[in-house]
Amino acid sequence: MPEMPEVETVRRGLVEQVKNKKIVNVEILYQNLITGNVDEFIETVTNARITNIGRRAKFLLIYLDNGYTIISHLRMEGKYRVSSDESAIDKHSHAIFTLDDGQMLIYNDVRKFGRMQLWPTATLDSNKSLVKLGPEPLSDSFTFENIKPRIVKHRKDIKTVLLDQSVMSGLGNIYVDEVLWQAKIHPETPANHLTDEDIKIIIDCSNKEIQTAIISGGSTVRSYLDANGHKGTMQDRLKVYGKEGEPCARCGTTIEKIKVGGRGTHFCPKCQVVK
Ligand SMILES: [Zn+2]
Repeated sequence: MPEMPEVETVRRGLVEQVKNKKIVNVEILYQNLITGNVDEFIETVTNARITNIGRRAKFLLIYLDNGYTIISHLRMEGKYRVSSDESAIDKHSHAIFTLDDGQMLIYNDVRKFGRMQLWPTATLDSNKSLVKLGPEPLSDSFTFENIKPRIVKHRKDIKTVLLDQSVMSGLGNIYVDEVLWQAKIHPETPANHLTDEDIKIIIDCSNKEIQTAIISGGSTVRSYLDANGHKGTMQDRLKVYGKEGEPCARCGTTIEKIKVGGRGTHFCPKCQVVK
């Protein structure tokens, strides 16, 4: 599943390839891709120019010059490709935006879980998918003062709390495991047991982890590719995710995999302690 760093990598690729291009034709080949009326979507998007590509957590925001924005959530397997070659279109291509330079922005989604929604740009903050998102790493609002109360009000395990996108947004299963390993905190620690120091370390590690992940183009754990078709290299840098049975890079103890809140969770039983 693409996580926030992968979506940021996709965003940067799309900025290079489609910013300032005009959409001259739209084909929606899988109607359920669009949240809302498909005909209205096509009518509004056709002949609009893409002014920029933004992102909020794992949502891509395709800003148009007509006052609307396409909110695109890739979910499990959604991908964008930019190509002028018809052979780039296959049975998993669900939306094709033909651009005024002859290129096509093609949305592919094997699992069909991704969604696109058209929304007035002026009221994006009130969109129900975006309004509930907590502060995200590397943003101005990702401060100790903002994050601490969102964490310590929960008695649940910290792994589940960090995955809750209303607490903080942008960290998915891979990066929560990595952050908790970096912070030396056991994933089953009740969130309200964490000290101020623990929370500061979580914030610091989250920023570093996301920064590193963005620089390395995200992780390619399943079939993620960026808009240029490049694979990320982050998976080579992961310390615990997918490393069960291997020695901890810090202490040599065997990494274990357990279920926490229903999610596969990787941790070092020696250097990550329950608080
Ligand atoms: Zn260890």
